[in-house]
Amino acid sequence: MDNEKLVNENFIHRFIAEDIAEGGQYEGETVHTRFPPEPNGYLHIGHAKAVCVDFGTAEKFKGKCNLRMDDTNPTKEDVEYVDAIKEDIKWLGFDWEDRFYYASDYFEQMYDYAVELIEKGLAYVCELTGEQMREYRGDLSTPAKSPYRDRPTEESLDLFRRMREGEFEDGKMTLRAKIDLASGNFSLRDPVIYRINHMSHHRTGDKWCIYPMYDFAHPIEDAIEGITHSLCTLEFEAHRPLYDWVVENISAPSKPRQIEFARLGINNTVMSKRKLRKLVEENYVNGWDDPRMPTLCGMRRRGYTPESIRSFTDQIGVSKVNSTVDYSFLEHCLRDDLNERATRAMAVLDPVKLVITNYPEDKTEEFEVENHPNHPEMGTRKVSFSREIYIESTDFMEEPFKKFQRLYPGNEVRIKSAYIVKCTGCKKDESGKVVEVYAEYDPDTRGGNTPDGRKVRGTIHWVNARDCLDAEVRMYDNLFTVEDPDGEDGEFVEYINPESLVILNGCKLEKSLGGAKPEDRFQFMRQGYFCADSKDSTGDNLVFNRTVGLKDSFKKK
Ligand code: ATP
Ligand code: MG
Repeated sequence: MDNEKLVNENFIHRFIAEDIAEGGQYEGETVHTRFPPEPNGYLHIGHAKAVCVDFGTAEKFKGKCNLRMDDTNPTKEDVEYVDAIKEDIKWLGFDWEDRFYYASDYFEQMYDYAVELIEKGLAYVCELTGEQMREYRGDLSTPAKSPYRDRPTEESLDLFRRMREGEFEDGKMTLRAKIDLASGNFSLRDPVIYRINHMSHHRTGDKWCIYPMYDFAHPIEDAIEGITHSLCTLEFEAHRPLYDWVVENISAPSKPRQIEFARLGINNTVMSKRKLRKLVEENYVNGWDDPRMPTLCGMRRRGYTPESIRSFTDQIGVSKVNSTVDYSFLEHCLRDDLNERATRAMAVLDPVKLVITNYPEDKTEEFEVENHPNHPEMGTRKVSFSREIYIESTDFMEEPFKKFQRLYPGNEVRIKSAYIVKCTGCKKDESGKVVEVYAEYDPDTRGGNTPDGRKVRGTIHWVNARDCLDAEVRMYDNLFTVEDPDGEDGEFVEYINPESLVILNGCKLEKSLGGAKPEDRFQFMRQGYFCADSKDSTGDNLVFNRTVGLKDSFKKK
């Protein structure tokens, strides 16, 4: 991270730096942030942005960042999600150390703070139904109203205790903060802070039948944990006065400051958990970690590196305006990173056999090739060569179009790192399909050099037919055909790209790829970046995913 640059450009960092410089309540405090996911789904690239902002800000100020499961809603949260969230954050390279919390662990304290507010005359039990509450909400020129607002403190205390004890059914009563019924900010018009909900909670079971509302719970969670700066997305901006009100009026140990930043949106995909769940549950994709999903587990399986995601979020920075980032920029960051770290290898995705008719039948030779053109420290490997090799069927044309510089009868081409060969013809089946291509090699061109300096334009990749490996290769593309699947008239699933996954069978890989592990990344020359599939690839049944192609559409724009 370029710290100096960021401190100037990143308004969150600037606010915090100002807080520290001013002293006051932040005097001598360590900057302390938190990432608070609701454990009801897998993290996606939007969450990654928040993770990078929360953990990255703490890192920047040598502070701390907590991981907190925001599980105050008694819905079906699942340990599966909790474990996956932890794994994804670790994978991104962040560490909450021993500060892993559940918001539900604070239910008792939240209840006590609610009682404190009632005792201070700052909260009351209200018996308006949801419908009445909407009706009495007022508008900009009319204040809201509640006939229960001035009920005696003792009565509210008694009712609130009985609400907790389960005496009343759902919706019968709420606890409301007594703030300002005429406020132009509607979230201050005596907001509900507790509701009755007879539902068991995945961690507290049936202990509670009243649950705190987010706007009341969240500042308390932050205050209990000693959070100094609570970074959240823009939709909470209007709720900040309520956040501050809660923090001011309870006897909490600390007074965190909320700072909002814009959500990340990316085109050609969807990010709401509900929509991602639909894709999974209705089998539009093969699970949460389908490599087409914008989930971190999907992106990991696809071959994304954590560094590329962090670089992406750093480069888009933080803003106060919601915007959509081009998918091609994410891929651009990915390519940038993979270009540096990926081992080069050869793979033929649509093979046809090339027979080098003047090469000895029983001979095999080896060429030592670099694993990376710019990184000698990445070493070399041996690729073997024999009379029969596989080449890409598109690298041969019996009747070439103009400017075609690869194999056609009479033309010379460089077999990458091996020899110069001259095409002599081909064999076709009854349907006219080319089944074999023929060429003769020039023994004086070992390594692909021309001692006489003659020009050979085309260079093609290949694998040795004698020892190459068969593989399935999965070619991925955008999951949606339209830029904004949410903004179209139809249901978003109508815009799924039918070619978002194209499976190629019978691909031929160079032998060295046999032991590839999912976290090994390769550039298949002239094709793109690939990795072994973490679920389906085995020693006997190799499966590779195309992470991203070579062509960068972002640079062109
Ligand atoms: P959804 O609306 O899909 O359910 P959410 O925002 O409710 O998502 P949470 O689990 O509450 O999901 O999110 C945890 C944190 O991640 C929150 O602080 C939230 O603001 C942040 N976050 C979620 N989506 C994005 C996004 N697209 N860009 C930036 N931050 C995000
Ligand atoms: Mg949320």
